[in-house]
Formats: sequence, C-alpha cells, structure tokens
Amino acid sequence: MSIRTITEQELKQQTQYSQWILKMNQERAQFLNRSLGYHIITFGCQQNENDSERMAGLLDEMGYQAVATPREADLILLNTCSVRENADDRFFGHLGIVKNIRRDRPDLIIGLAGCLMTQGEAVAKIRQSYPFVDLVFGPQDIYRLPELLYHRLTDTRRVYEVGEDDTLVEGLPIHRARKHRALVTIMHGCNNFCTYCIVPYTRGRERSRLMPDVLAEVQDLVANGYKEIMLLGQNVNSYGNDLQKDDPTQPDFSDLLAKAAQIPGIYRIRFMTSHPKDLSPKLLDTIALYPAIEPHIHLPLQSGSDRILRAMNRHYTQAEFVAIAKKARALRPGLTISTDLIVGFPGETEEDFVETLATMEQVRFDAAFTFQYSRRTGTPAATYPDQIDDKTVRDRFSRLTALQNEHSLASNQALEGQLQEVLIEGRSENDPFVLSGRTAHNRLVNFRLPDDYPFPAEYRHTDGTIDTARLEGQIGQVRITRAKTFSLEGQWEQLLPWA
Ligand code: SF4
Repeated sequence: MSIRTITEQELKQQTQYSQWILKMNQERAQFLNRSLGYHIITFGCQQNENDSERMAGLLDEMGYQAVATPREADLILLNTCSVRENADDRFFGHLGIVKNIRRDRPDLIIGLAGCLMTQGEAVAKIRQSYPFVDLVFGPQDIYRLPELLYHRLTDTRRVYEVGEDDTLVEGLPIHRARKHRALVTIMHGCNNFCTYCIVPYTRGRERSRLMPDVLAEVQDLVANGYKEIMLLGQNVNSYGNDLQKDDPTQPDFSDLLAKAAQIPGIYRIRFMTSHPKDLSPKLLDTIALYPAIEPHIHLPLQSGSDRILRAMNRHYTQAEFVAIAKKARALRPGLTISTDLIVGFPGETEEDFVETLATMEQVRFDAAFTFQYSRRTGTPAATYPDQIDDKTVRDRFSRLTALQNEHSLASNQALEGQLQEVLIEGRSENDPFVLSGRTAHNRLVNFRLPDDYPFPAEYRHTDGTIDTARLEGQIGQVRITRAKTFSLEGQWEQLLPWA
C-alpha cells in the first residue's frame, strides 16, 4: 500500500465536526452548569503518549477539559498497546474499572484507541464482552476523532473504525502532557518485521514526516520554552528512507538530527529508538559533533546469540553490535548506552543465553529494559514450535536482571561526588520539596531543595515558600551523593540560567 497524506480538505471536514461538537458541548455545559471533562489512559510506548497528546488537543478544541480522574470525566479514552501481553492484561483490567463507572453514569462516553484496536481478535472480544464501549479506532484514525465522536453523540449506535494503515497527517492540535520534555514523532510505522514484534502489523509501514514540518514543530517548542525535545519513531535511524525512494536528495535521520540540534535556544535533544542495523557512521559523527544531542543512545541488542538474532530477523550480528557500541563510545567520550534484552525467545538454548550474558559483560550497558519473551498472536515467532517453558524463562530472566543491575549500579557509582546538570522533571508525590530530574546521560536524580537557597521571587509563593511546581522544566546543578541501581541521589547546588 502506498503512503497517503491526509488532505487539507479532509482536515477541514474534521474541523467542521469539531465545531458542531463544541456547540453541543457548550449547550450541555450550560445546562449542567459545569464544563465537560475528558480523561485519557495511555498504555505502552512514548509514541502512544504522543498520540494521546494529539487526541487531547482535539478534545480541547471540542470544548472538553482534561480532568485528573476517570470518575470526573464525561468521556474516557483508553489508548491501548499490543506489544506485550501484560499491557493487554492491564488494559482489560482498566476496562473493568471503567465499566463500573459507566454503570452509574449511562451518559459517559467510552472510547478505545491504539494498536490493540487494529487486532481483529481484540476488537471481536470487545464487541462481544464489553458492549458498553462506544468508540473503537486505531492509531491511523486519530485525526477522525471529531467525526467518530460526532456520529456517536448524534446516534445510539456504537462506532468501530479501523482505517487505512499507511497515512500521514500534519497540523493536528496537541495538548502536551509535560512542561519539560516535548515528544515529536518524526515517523510512523516500521518495515523491519522482527519476528516477535506486532508493530509492523498494527502501525503499518514506515512513513517519515517531511523535515521542514518536523523542524517547524521543534522550533515552535523551543520558542515556547521546552528545553528537551524527544524525537520518536519505531526506528528513527531509517527516517527518510521512504522519502528518498522518490527523491534521493531528501534528508536522512542524521541530517534531521543535525538541523534540529542547531536550532537556537535548544537545550537537549534525545531520540528513540535506534535499530543497530541502521546506525550509520554518519549518524555517529553527528552525535559526536553537536553538544545539544544527548550523550546517550538507546540501542536494543535483544540477544547476544547470532543464531537467535537471525531467528528474530534483526539483521546484525553480535560482533557488529559490539563494534558499533565501541565506536559510539570512542567518538563521544562519556556516552551512555541503554538497551532492550529479551530472554526466552523460542529456541533459545542455555548456550544462546550465556552469549547474551557475555555480550552484556563486553558492552556493559549503563541501563537496560529487560523482558521475558511475550508470545503475540499474529507474529511469526508465536508459531515457532520450540517455545521455552516458563520456569526456564523466569530463571534466565532473574540471572539477566541480576547482571544488569550490577552493571547499572556500577555505572551510576562512577558519578558519586560529581556535579551534574539536571533538567527538573517533577516533584515527589509524598514530599513536594523532593524533586527529580534527568542528567544529559538520561540518569534519574532525586534531590531535596534546601529551604534557604536564594531562589528568585518568581519561584516563591506569596508567603515566601518555594513554588516547586514552577521549577519543572528548569535546569539545576546537583552534586551526586549516592548511587542506586535505577537512580541517583543528589544534593542541590544551584539553579542554572538558560537563555
Ligand atoms: S524494529 Fe523490530 S522491534 Fe522495533 S518496532 Fe520494528 S519490528 Fe518491532
């Protein structure tokens, strides 16, 4: 299927639906003497989070207001994920909670979006067992939310829509969830067909946004005070490949990253996820060249066995991976590398698993997301005969995490006593004077604010106490006092200015 860009005319139609709903909502709000609320529950990856931000932007335009809990909402959306079985399970658990809320509120609208909604089996289950669901739509249909919602609000029928796979849409409104980090999706879909992964079947083939559109979004974010930009794609390293088929002069990911890193006022730029097979020498040079690009790469190894990498359809060898990691660290001293690791892929022998442990020893990842293989219906690996028994998977998983925890702790311990710049992300729920932030190397630091630090008046309440919420998105200097496996503790030193 070829890539289709949603036309201006189609977007205008959606704006028309949005305005009709706005009018209906204004009348209803007047009648109820309160505004109408929406609540979105997001499962899965950051791309899903970014999709939820787009849905929130559309709902804002239709006159809904974000509310903190599902019980306060007139419309609840669950943005689902189908990558792992536990995300499925959590989603159905939440759906049960939403069902209870709906029991007391027959006028509550419930919508389901996201990858899982492109899976026929899941949709059939919802039709049969969850008849209270009003709307079902896939990631490709987000721009049609006004139209789908309008039909539901003006009709008693439920609306189920899963549209074309390979569409691209620009110009949707967005309601950003965070003040410090902005997510920018640069491409959709994936062409890689790793044999364990459902994404190419749920999100379609790779579609890259045009570079001017991405850069305009980044520029706008920087102008609006966002300090950290996160470029997102299932495989950012293949950004532009689809565009170059028609026009070889189109940029690749390295070109895009270099341009974004040079936008005046940008503080930090991150990207996720990099496929090792597509991490070009040019991209490594770019990462080494621009200080605004974070000194950190997330580079999924998955397995250290060439036999398993072949079975996973990963298109690199263990030796190639190790060479890339080595080169990256040599080009950008201090660069941290995090990874994804899967244990218990079908056919994985003890020898294969030991090769993964040996590769971890060789590379010494600074952090890792570790997974037990999750059998996803519709993927080739789900049909492989040599599935590994649960006990073996659990045993390997605990050996894998023990080793990684050792490496993560050692990597964090190297920072004890050092001064680090952190971008402040938020406050502890239990103590508003304990803040957290991330270093350029993507390490989480928790620290307490001293009462007597001379914060400028703009960071204080009228009674003189520190307004810690205002510090989100600011840059602080912190001395690392203690390393833990998954985070660091620090002592506040000073607030750093950023033009
Ligand atoms: S690169 Fe592989 S694991 Fe990643 S989204 Fe694509 S198919 Fe899935």
